[in-house]
Amino acid sequence: MQDLTQAPMNIGKELSEMSTDQTQLRAPSRLASVLAGKLVIPEHAGFDEARRAFNLAIDQRPAAVVFPESPQDVAAAVLFAREFDLRVAAQGTGHNAGPLGSLEDAILLKTERMRGVSIDPARRTARVEAGTLWLEVVEAAAQHGLAALAGSSPNVGVVGYTLGGGISFLARKYGLAANHVRAVELVTADGRRVRADREHEPDLFWALRGGGGSFGVVTAIEFELFPITHAYAGILWYPIERGPEVLHAWRELTHSEQLPDELTTIGRFLNLPPLPEIPEPVRGKSFAVVEVYHLGDPADADHLLAPLRALGPSNDTITTVPMTALHPIHMDPEQPVPYDGDGLLVDHLSTDALDAFAEAAGANAQFPLLSVELRHLGGELGRPRPEHGALASINADHVMFAIGIVPAPELEAPVRTQVQAVKAALARWAASHMYLNFAETQQDAATFWTEQAYHRLRRIKNAVDPDNLIRANHAIEPRAVARDDGHGTGALPPLTQRR
Ligand SMILES: Cc1cc2nc3c(=O)[nH]c(=O)nc-3n(C[C@H](O)[C@H](O)[C@H](O)COP(=O)(O)OP(=O)(O)OC[C@H]3O[C@@H](n4cnc5c(N)ncnc54)[C@H](O)[C@@H]3O)c2cc1C
Repeated sequence: MQDLTQAPMNIGKELSEMSTDQTQLRAPSRLASVLAGKLVIPEHAGFDEARRAFNLAIDQRPAAVVFPESPQDVAAAVLFAREFDLRVAAQGTGHNAGPLGSLEDAILLKTERMRGVSIDPARRTARVEAGTLWLEVVEAAAQHGLAALAGSSPNVGVVGYTLGGGISFLARKYGLAANHVRAVELVTADGRRVRADREHEPDLFWALRGGGGSFGVVTAIEFELFPITHAYAGILWYPIERGPEVLHAWRELTHSEQLPDELTTIGRFLNLPPLPEIPEPVRGKSFAVVEVYHLGDPADADHLLAPLRALGPSNDTITTVPMTALHPIHMDPEQPVPYDGDGLLVDHLSTDALDAFAEAAGANAQFPLLSVELRHLGGELGRPRPEHGALASINADHVMFAIGIVPAPELEAPVRTQVQAVKAALARWAASHMYLNFAETQQDAATFWTEQAYHRLRRIKNAVDPDNLIRANHAIEPRAVARDDGHGTGALPPLTQRR
């Protein structure tokens, strides 16, 4: 264990010497006094602003909000929470705040002040602090001719995304972002600063790569970059009424035997709101689209896209673009918005499955959602390798993700019903497991990993956080170890006993 602890706080001791009344009155200011960052409690005027998540539909009400500025701040907040029998929920942006549930017994640790990206062009790696957003990495890496395994949204947090797996536009070629992580720096539930990599804390390192946020508060993460400067990418646009024929042609493409891992495509229904920030030609209109992201010779992609182009798209924006221009293609919201959504993995997208999807989500949908997409998976995403982490691969053809904007409370029910309708339409073809990052609702955690991986994750959680202090959106509960099943974690003692 590499112990990076720096002067552990003595607030715990000082607080324990006070009477209960004194403690309740003075505790928050004592925490505030040791933080470089900020503490906001419900009595403060700025509390409503402080507790806000990117998803404005989520009304999170934690016991307190801390904006740490350093790992020391994180450790102080963790020790404080332990002392006062509170829990700690780390949040980068709040893109996946929905599944967190009640936070009334938790300190919400918002990492947005911990920003910073350093690129090592020789090693082709990036080290980023906990609150860094994907766009910041994409832009910094591009200055060195490098690309990151970023998701579709420019302002999703690097850490939350990577802990959950991370499906980028390059995922068919390179697999999950989590499996390209080199090291994770974190504060564990006992307030210690730890660096987990292949040589140090290998169990923890394994768990952090796809096991989600249950194992500590990550303060920085280091991962691989790739020597890619451009992609051939864009959208084929069609009127939504042509959805079934377009998506059937796209389905054929995704099933093509010559399909290279370099090509990732998305079949999608879009109902764009009549907002000024939406480009005029598509504002307020509905479409069936095929998004294309290709690494390599454009001619190879053109050959495969010919049947889709033969259908006569109303617009074809596919062209060679720098890697910094990939995010805008997917048009994810760039400012906090209220939304509801959910996803599921599709085992095998048969023609019947596609018909059911098009009927539920296309022109005849009961309620128009902003976006319902089927992302093609496979390629490297489906190849588990011994060196991979907790989410070694995703064993499914496609992932469906449906999202609707909820600008007023009365729209919550129709949006939720429609998301459920799309899921129900695909239920016959759905995988029994689920991808954590696209689960916007609370789901059985056991469905995110293989059975073996899930049991190992629970044992590691038990070793590093037996009191369940760290609260993740998709939580893993600690599990007492009955026996060692040969995965090297059975007899792992708690961190506190390993100094
Ligand atoms: C519009 C949109 C587009 C998306 N596109 C993609 C995509 O292309 N590919 C993909 O794979 N996913 C995608 N996602 C899903 C996204 O990856 C998850 O929502 C992810 O959890 C977001 O991470 P965050 O830190 O921004 O969110 P948060 O809600 O802040 O964090 C989610 C969880 O991550 C954990 N976490 C965050 N920071 C820390 C930390 N410092 N220490 C410990 N745990 C932490 C916590 O458990 C937290 O509850 C998308 C989601 C949306 C809404």
